[in-house]
Amino acid sequence: MTKPAPRENVLAIDIYVPGKSAAAARNGARVFKLSANETPLGPSPRAIAAARQSIEHAAAYPEGSSKLLRAAIGAAHNLDPARIIAGAGSDEILELLALAFIGPGDEAIYSQYGFLEYKIVTLAAGGTPIVAPETNYTANVDALLAAVTAKTKMVFLANPNNPTGTYLPLSEVTRLADALPKNAILVLDAAYAEYVTTTEYEAGVALATQRDNVVMTRTFSKIYGLAGLRLGWGYGPAEIIDALNRIRSPFNVSSVASAAGIAALEDRAHLGAAIAHNAEWLPWLAQNIAALGLEVLPSVGNFLAIRFPDEDGRRAADADKFLTERGLVLRAIAAYGMPEFLRLTVGSREANERVVAALAEFVGRR
Ligand code: PMP
Repeated sequence: MTKPAPRENVLAIDIYVPGKSAAAARNGARVFKLSANETPLGPSPRAIAAARQSIEHAAAYPEGSSKLLRAAIGAAHNLDPARIIAGAGSDEILELLALAFIGPGDEAIYSQYGFLEYKIVTLAAGGTPIVAPETNYTANVDALLAAVTAKTKMVFLANPNNPTGTYLPLSEVTRLADALPKNAILVLDAAYAEYVTTTEYEAGVALATQRDNVVMTRTFSKIYGLAGLRLGWGYGPAEIIDALNRIRSPFNVSSVASAAGIAALEDRAHLGAAIAHNAEWLPWLAQNIAALGLEVLPSVGNFLAIRFPDEDGRRAADADKFLTERGLVLRAIAAYGMPEFLRLTVGSREANERVVAALAEFVGRR
């Protein structure tokens, strides 16, 4: 060999392409980024103030175990802080889980339109990704279970899932947990949990508390509006959290992110406003877009997958270009095997109204 070569699996990874941020808007139209499931409400003012204050002390390393943050999360969610691990986004927790529990020869299962990070972390760990088919763009417990083999070490389930927005009720998640081999971990990725209003849903607190092989991951990136600071967490059995703590980098969460996260958890009014905003505008968007004759997947998150017809000039790619020119930046999700869809994040009132108006114009074009 004449030069360094990464492990074979590494080059099998397709680089994650984030949603577009800058738009080539015509006439300098105002740009609305609706491509990354970020909240239009921004972070809590208390989180901003706490981050500002914290940066004064940025010369000092953070406390390595994110003790204060874990205590705050524990208090907010009624969980044992010793069973919580904080990370640089929930992406880091997913990565730690894969690195600690998946190796060459091992398999990790996720569903057909599941969040792409599962494939990345599985390959990065040297494992083999296994894809289970979905039904109506919804994870199918029987299909996930049918994919289980003696090599299965992990099953990733985003609930609700990104980019489809669909979810599994607690009864189905429990059925999945019940039937999995005891040596395989069920990862319940509940990045959008706070947005879900249906009573049949539960993020995974009970299962991750009671089972030896269930972990729940959560994030401050979505409803708390702190995506730029990179802050997420995982909760699960002490032995699993212990393994993750052994392999994480010693100062994986910045002091500024921790301080902002703690303040964000304390601002219940801001959280309530974000929930109320979504509860108002998600159905508004779904109804108004469906009224234009476009199919919308039933979402419980803060985003919608919109299907475009397979007709010249009317496809998702055409709509993407049309909307982008008007400063409305949605997410193309061809990388998820959904080339006929665009994903729209619920935005401000102005952004939402503009999207519906622009889609009406797009659909009405001859
Ligand atoms: N899980 C799901 C389902 C997501 O959509 C995202 C964000 N795209 C993440 C995890 C990771 O979010 P973060 O690392 O910002 O916490």
